[in-house]
Amino acid sequence: MHTVNETTIADGLVGAIGNTPLIRLKRASAATGCDILGKAEFMNPGGSVKDRAAIAIIEDAERTGALRPGGTIVEGTAGNTGIGLTLVANARGYRSVVVMPETQSREKIDFLRMIGADLRLVPAKPYRDPGNYVHVSRRIAEEIGGFWANQFDNIANREGHRLTTGAEIWAQTGGRVDAFTCSCGTGGTLAGVGMALKACRKEVRIVLADPEGSGLHGWVKSGDLTPSGSSITEGIGQSRVTANLDGAPIDDALKIPDAEALEQVFDLMIHEGLSVGGSTGVNVAAAIRIARDLGSGHTVVTILCDGGARYQTKLFNPEFLRGKNLPVTPWL
Ligand code: PMP
Repeated sequence: MHTVNETTIADGLVGAIGNTPLIRLKRASAATGCDILGKAEFMNPGGSVKDRAAIAIIEDAERTGALRPGGTIVEGTAGNTGIGLTLVANARGYRSVVVMPETQSREKIDFLRMIGADLRLVPAKPYRDPGNYVHVSRRIAEEIGGFWANQFDNIANREGHRLTTGAEIWAQTGGRVDAFTCSCGTGGTLAGVGMALKACRKEVRIVLADPEGSGLHGWVKSGDLTPSGSSITEGIGQSRVTANLDGAPIDDALKIPDAEALEQVFDLMIHEGLSVGGSTGVNVAAAIRIARDLGSGHTVVTILCDGGARYQTKLFNPEFLRGKNLPVTPWL
């Protein structure tokens, strides 16, 4: 049902971040007898869940004085955080330098250039290599005297999710939430939402959804961070315990292969009209597994992180998918 809210004029871009709809996913809910709900983060102005981290980190830095008027924000990112930071920078009179592995989608690269980011593409290297995009971004910030956003280890990130994403989920479900699951890049979303929900009801199950090629599933299950396999998903997977993940209330973890995630991406698009990216596929696949495990009548919440248009040339490209031996979009 559509309701018209009064006095809901957003104060610029920043006022339009957050307060996203919580959408009942019909097929997933019907298949499990549960309510499977997706927080529509692709509806943020920058098109992803990372707008929340961007504004939380920037406002924290403004408060502490780490970011001064007219300053430059520098960050290493898979793309979405760079997009959020650049848009907020534009709205608040800062400049942004975005360091990104060149393996990320063409669409995110083009969009970052379009919105005026000073984009520096670097070869994809593991975190232990000094050429890794995170370390490059830190060095650039030091060299130019910029503010390094440091989304992985700056806990203003999870604090933003605790105060907004988590609080919204509690309010939108009226406290009827049995489990929450999402995948992790920085871990800000999982940790922040997990902390918010556990503070309201400690029985809420917090489950990490992990793609192949990430060490976090092993970390939660047995304390072993060694990654195995690989994934075409972007923005998720991690080989270390970031400051945002440190101490996060995580009860369990699930490993979701790309084929299982893609099935959800394609189903959401063609049966529900929801265009989402690969990390959302991982999240929804995990929510379905959790719902099956809990049994009917439960409510499982997850995150719809970003939109499918950001990955058109990968997830919706039959040639690309066939080359990776993955299921192909049935209607293309
Ligand atoms: N999905 C996408 C598409 C992302 O870009 C990110 C952030 N890198 C995530 C999920 C994970 O979010 P977080 O950093 O809060 O763990």
